[in-house]
Parts: sequence; structure tokens; C-alpha cells
Amino acid sequence: MKVLIIGAGIVGAACARSLARRGATVTVIDRGAPAGATSAAGEGNLLVSDKAPGAELDLARYSLGLWASLRTELAAETNGAFASFEYQPKGGVVAASGEAAAAALSRFAEAQRRAGVDARPLSVQEARALEPELAASITSAVHYPEDAQVQPAIATEALLASARAAGARVLAHTTLTGPLRDGAGRLVGVTTSNGPLEADAVLVAAGPWSGEVARTLGATLAVGPRKGLLLVTARMPQRIWHKVYDTSYVGAVQSDERDLATSTVVESTASGTVLIGSSRQDVGFDGTIDVAVLAEIARKAIALMPFLAEATVIRAYGGFRPFSRDHLPVIGADPDLDGLWYATGHEGAGIGLAPGTAELLAAAMLGEPTAMSLDPFAPGRPSLREVA
Ligand SMILES: Cc1cc2nc3c(=O)[nH]c(=O)nc-3n(C[C@H](O)[C@H](O)[C@H](O)COP(=O)(O)OP(=O)(O)OC[C@H]3O[C@@H](n4cnc5c(N)ncnc54)[C@H](O)[C@@H]3O)c2cc1C
Repeated sequence: MKVLIIGAGIVGAACARSLARRGATVTVIDRGAPAGATSAAGEGNLLVSDKAPGAELDLARYSLGLWASLRTELAAETNGAFASFEYQPKGGVVAASGEAAAAALSRFAEAQRRAGVDARPLSVQEARALEPELAASITSAVHYPEDAQVQPAIATEALLASARAAGARVLAHTTLTGPLRDGAGRLVGVTTSNGPLEADAVLVAAGPWSGEVARTLGATLAVGPRKGLLLVTARMPQRIWHKVYDTSYVGAVQSDERDLATSTVVESTASGTVLIGSSRQDVGFDGTIDVAVLAEIARKAIALMPFLAEATVIRAYGGFRPFSRDHLPVIGADPDLDGLWYATGHEGAGIGLAPGTAELLAAAMLGEPTAMSLDPFAPGRPSLREVA
């Protein structure tokens, strides 16, 4: 089967690997450089801790298991070229301040435990033993040992290198311009800035541009951008040991608010910098770095970990999360246009969810059984159609 993938971000890269290793003939196109868009703009958290029981949590747990295997598989498949993509199974600590937040966190963690997540309630003393820099205002916390972290741009490159080793080709600086259809209206390829490309299946993995790309191909998909900004500190001796965030992060991840929402998530990286996130804002593709938003992110981070007040910020950056209105990824075949498939809409969790998405998509496309049901992610589901 000949598959053409639009987008060489982490989702397109993971799909290329899963498909090529199953014997498909894979071509990936990207209008820019591979790993040059959203997948280079995120933090690289692989989280179960922020997900409520349901299909996304199931996909996250499936993906986390795959990430753990990828650590050794990608090194072997690329002849050691990617011996590390900074995979760190460091676990997460979610902290609450005040009675109401503590009660909400406790209820959330209890529901997650019932769904099989390892969510361990901590006393303030225990939380401080894990994270000594937590603010004095913390009243309770939960430890999530399953949470992990990767460097997302390196992980994307490693997945693409593995896909290439399995026979895939990657065409950078090649922009999709339109569909190729046969007499029956079926999609049989695309036109690009570098000429036509034929395929048995076209997979849209174009991140926040997936709605635009679907439109260019004659389909409708309700996936668009949700902007996020981050701060990066200068390198420092390690003082943060887990992914640490406050309870407002879960609310922001699951919120439908179109206005600005900021919530705190901090983590150290392998290079010694600290990433401080993040914001969520529906402003289309306006990439302005807004200082007032950065100030709010910084204020909240200092409230969670006061020592950060002394940290030097060396840069700020941001990107556009691929947002689907019902907060679930879109994985599967277009209900109306034969030959068109999607792997997109992962919003703030595309790094974490990429390997599971790719395995499910590849199995479904090639007519194999899938490891979990794809129904909740179906492109034709009513919750997505209503928005479209
Ligand atoms: C601030 C921020 C923090 C984040 N933190 C995390 C996190 O901690 N953990 C996590 O799991 N996720 C996180 N995310 C989300 C994550 O980055 C995304 O879900 C993920 O990168 C999406 O990957 P993708 O491959 O779908 O999209 P992208 O990486 O955007 O790739 C899509 C590609 O399609 C290409 N393309 C678009 N249009 C065309 C066209 N017409 N022709 C050809 N090519 C085209 C683009 O050039 C791009 O390279 C964060 C995002 C942001 C913005």
C-alpha cells in the first residue's frame, strides 16, 4: 500500500515509522523542515496525571508503554544515531493549595486510580521529600510515577530516522496544494509545490493546520490552533526532580474557554534549563509573544516554587496546539472522502500520544486488529461534526 503523509511533526513521524515497519510504501511531505513546527514548541511531557478516565487516558497509558520500548528500539533501528532523545521516566507531582483544590485533586486521583493509574496521595511532608522547593502554601499533593518526559524535536527526528531506515522517504519544503481524484471521486494522491504524488491513502498529520489541509483536499475537519507560550531559564544545578504542576493545570487542559488561561507546570531538562509553562489562548495563528502572558506564567510558577524568583529567564517561545473542540484526537478514515485519513487533534498531548496513535492508525489503515477501539477518535463522531 502506498501512503502519503502530510506533516513531518511527531505524529506524522510516528505514523511513518509504524506504517513503513508494516511494509507500507511511505512518503512524508512537509512544507517546512521536519520537526520544525508544533513538535519543536512543546515541553515533551508524557502525562497520565492530567487525564480524566476515558479514551484519552487509555491512549496515554498505551502510548507511555510504547515510549518506554522506543527508548531501546529507536537506538537499534537507527544504528545508535539516536542513542538518546532525553527520555526520562521521572514521574509527576501535582500539588494543591487550599481545601477546595485539595478535595478536587483527591477526587480526580481517586477516579484515576479506579481506571488503573498509579496515583499516590502524599502528605505535605512526603511531597516536600520528593520536591523540597514546593511553596509553603501547599496543602496536599499526588505522586504519579508513570509520568515521563522526552525532548520532542529529537524524538521526532529519531522516529523519522527509523521510518527512513524502514524505507520511508521524507520530502521537506514540499507544500500540499490540492487533491488528485479518480473518476469516482476517490482521493488518489495530492498535488504539491514539487509536483503530483500518487497514493492509495493520504494521511493528514498536519497538527494545527489539519483543518486547513482537510479543506484543501475537499473535506471538513474541526481542528485548529490553540496558542501556548513557555519560559526557559538559564541552566542551573538541579532543584526540580519531577514534572511539577498545580491543580489549575488539569482544569486548563480540559477547559473550553476561548480566553487566556494560564496554569503552572515546571520541569528541569537534561541540559539543566527549567521549562516553565504554560498558557492556552484561542487567537488563531497570531504568534505574538505577549509579555503580560509571560508575566502571569512567571508569577504562578513562583507561587508554586518560590526559588524560581531568583532564576534568569533566557528565552520565551510558543506554538499552536492542534485543538479539537471535544478534546479528543482524531484518528481514522474520513467518513465522506474515500482514501483520506487523519491522525491529528492531540492538542497539548501530541508528544505523549504519538506512538499509540501511530500504531492504531497503521493497524486500522492496513486492515489489522487495533490494540484498542478507535471509535472514540472517529473523524465522523457527532461531537466533532456538530462543531464543523
Ligand atoms: C506550548 C506548548 C506546550 C506543549 N507541551 C506538550 C507536552 O508537554 N506534551 C505533549 O504531549 N504535547 C505538548 N504540546 C502539544 C504538542 O506539541 C502537539 O500536540 C504535537 O507537537 C502535534 O504534533 P503534530 O505532528 O500533530 O503537529 P506539528 O508538529 O505541527 O506537525 C505538523 C506539520 O505539518 C506541516 N504542514 C502544515 N500544513 C502543511 C501543508 N499544507 N503542506 C505540507 N506540510 C504542512 C507543518 O509544517 C508541520 O511540520 C505542547 C504544545 C505547545 C504549543
